[in-house]
Amino acid sequence: MSIAYIGLGSNIGDRLGYIQQSCKMLNDIEGIQVVECSSFYETEPFGYKEQEWFVNAIVIVKTELSAENLLDVCADIEKRLGRDRQKQKIQWGPRTVDLDILFFDDKIISTSFLQVPHPRVHLRAYALVPLLEIAANYVHPVLKKTIEKLHDDLENPEEVYLYGTRRI
Ligand code: ATP
Ligand code: CA
Ligand code: CA
Repeated sequence: MSIAYIGLGSNIGDRLGYIQQSCKMLNDIEGIQVVECSSFYETEPFGYKEQEWFVNAIVIVKTELSAENLLDVCADIEKRLGRDRQKQKIQWGPRTVDLDILFFDDKIISTSFLQVPHPRVHLRAYALVPLLEIAANYVHPVLKKTIEKLHDDLENPEEVYLYGTRRI
């Protein structure tokens, strides 16, 4: 049994609904059990700015699946919730839903289609802030720093608000 940390993000349509449905769909898969879900956050788009703000959350799951099979499950959920990689192909551009494997136990994986830890997790406030809430003491297996330390080290973090607290 492994523990995986999965980042969820949406910035098209019913953003909260897509995050909630992703969480439920993960839990409905045999061999995956969602054990914890962070609060929802509203976050400034990173990279490509001409798009809606995101809703982000992270979930912790227990799983019997391998990281590779979990990635397939994530891609399948993205597809079932309407993510169309042909229409939504701008890098870091708008998407109905994005599921990233941030960490998988303390494994280090580097293949052409799967890198764990997620190669940019330590640079993204929208991933570190929800992680802080439910996994502050997790140690990044490559950088050997806790989530809390990685968050402290962010130099120019994007804006992240607990959902519902953003004032425009
Ligand atoms: P970013 O990776 O910077 O968050 P993104 O989520 O927009 O960007 P995608 O287009 O969703 O990028 O993913 C591109 C590819 O990344 C996927 O097809 C997948 O094979 C690969 N990938 C590598 N490592 C991971 C991981 N840990 N979790 C999810 N996808 C990954
Ligand atoms: Ca992503
Ligand atoms: Ca992704």
